[in-house]
Amino acid sequence: MIPRLVAQRLVYHVDVTTITTPAAAEVFAFDNTYARDLDGLYVPWKAAQVHEPRLVKLNHALAEELGLDAQALDTPAGALIFSGNKLPEGTVTIAQAYAGHQFGGFSPQLGDGRALLLGEVIDKQGKRRDIAFKGSGRTPFSRGGDGKAALGPVLREYLIGEAMHVLGIPTTRALAAVTTGEVVRRERNLPGAVLTRVAASHIRVGTFQFVTARGDDATLRKLADYVIERHYPELQGQADPCFGLLRALSERQAELIARWMNVGFIHGVMNTDNMTLSGETIDYGPCAFMDHYHPATVFSSIDEHGRYAYANQPPIANWNLARFAEALLPLLTEESSGDQDKAVERAMAILGTFQERYEQCWLGGMRRKLGLTREQDDDFALATDFLKAMEGQGVDFTQAFRRLADTAEAADASREGWLRKLYANDAALDAWLPRWRMRINAEAVAPAQRAQAMRAVNPVYIPRNHRVEEALAAAVNRGDYAPFEKLLAVLQRPFDEHMALSAYADPAPASESAGYQTFCGT
Ligand code: AMP
Ligand code: MG
Repeated sequence: MIPRLVAQRLVYHVDVTTITTPAAAEVFAFDNTYARDLDGLYVPWKAAQVHEPRLVKLNHALAEELGLDAQALDTPAGALIFSGNKLPEGTVTIAQAYAGHQFGGFSPQLGDGRALLLGEVIDKQGKRRDIAFKGSGRTPFSRGGDGKAALGPVLREYLIGEAMHVLGIPTTRALAAVTTGEVVRRERNLPGAVLTRVAASHIRVGTFQFVTARGDDATLRKLADYVIERHYPELQGQADPCFGLLRALSERQAELIARWMNVGFIHGVMNTDNMTLSGETIDYGPCAFMDHYHPATVFSSIDEHGRYAYANQPPIANWNLARFAEALLPLLTEESSGDQDKAVERAMAILGTFQERYEQCWLGGMRRKLGLTREQDDDFALATDFLKAMEGQGVDFTQAFRRLADTAEAADASREGWLRKLYANDAALDAWLPRWRMRINAEAVAPAQRAQAMRAVNPVYIPRNHRVEEALAAAVNRGDYAPFEKLLAVLQRPFDEHMALSAYADPAPASESAGYQTFCGT
């Protein structure tokens, strides 16, 4: 009988004994400042050996950005490297320590329970990037966990990270996905996998909390200096650099969350150990893009009280920043001549600016989404009221902006039909459209040009929940990576609409989207 061939990319069966890996310097040119400078914040640890590593995806574009030889890595030797089975000679892997508030409760010790840092490389643009594993086995920080990752969540992190990146949102990214040939036990048995993740760094608010919880002021100082040098070099040599750090992180996070909100992204698990000092989005666990607009949207099965609901993301980010300020307090007090009350007061003043900064960033994004080129006082109300008009009307968030761009093709109401069709009841939209129309017509921009500008910032294609699930299910259940590859390809060009791809633009039918839940499950 002829074996059944599945339309999927080739995977490699690897005979570990016959493949040699070169020295780390030849493959990655690691320069490991974290391990060198931050003693006490990690333990050297080795990845578990896996049974049968197969490279199911290599991110060629990212590999090239990092100055790696993508061709040489998209091979059995690459499968060995990205499974951790045979790392380049001289690679010293470490598990990073951190703490964190999880759903509001403090855990003094979390750390890399299923992750390892391989090292840092300087990319082609001169930026330092971490390369790390997720799913590489138990470490001293694993607590009750198995240290493993399942294939579905690994591919999910790959897809959503790439989608975010293409949308211009700061994010960690996936470099490679490897299946291990092993079974991971979750609610059911699942194929195991290892993700290789690239990040500006893996330092989290929880890293600072880990140090402060131990009362180790000397290490706290080293950590703050390290973060300033790596992520905020402009603060070096300035007065009160730790206050500067609090302010700068607050600004970066305000910008990041505003970008999430502008595309309808819901992170799902904004614990302080999942907030980076770099300002990148990290840890795509139970995240999802909102389909029907509602501020209270929650997808994560473990977020029972909606702590991390869509509209809660800005105040939660601010809450996390307050925890960061607490962790920094010994250093902030030093910068306030030893007066802790003064330090608290100054930190509070900085935290108090978050909301305004966030709103500015959010409104900047909304102006672009609504096609406004000038700033006017009532823009905030105009933007907010567009969202309010969607509420309760079953309107798809992403499509509403895209159809609004279509209406901008005409200076009058003649192109409004497709937009109106999205609304169960368009009475509120009826009241809003003339306000918007008056506002844009007061600007000297040709309708076609405005529509084009709006289409360049309002995606047609986002990782639709049902499409993501479909791609993961095909890979996990049938070893068929074609839907994953296709979805990834569609998400690479989110702004160019193609009729043939309409199935990727549509939200799931109501029957499928009702009660859609995501799971941490990595
Ligand atoms: P996360 O929910 O991915 O942000 O992870 C929170 C903490 O739980 C981190 O310290 C992880 O390393 C740890 N963790 C999550 N899953 C596992 C697992 N399967 N085995 C060991 N540790 C885990
Ligand atoms: Mg995490």
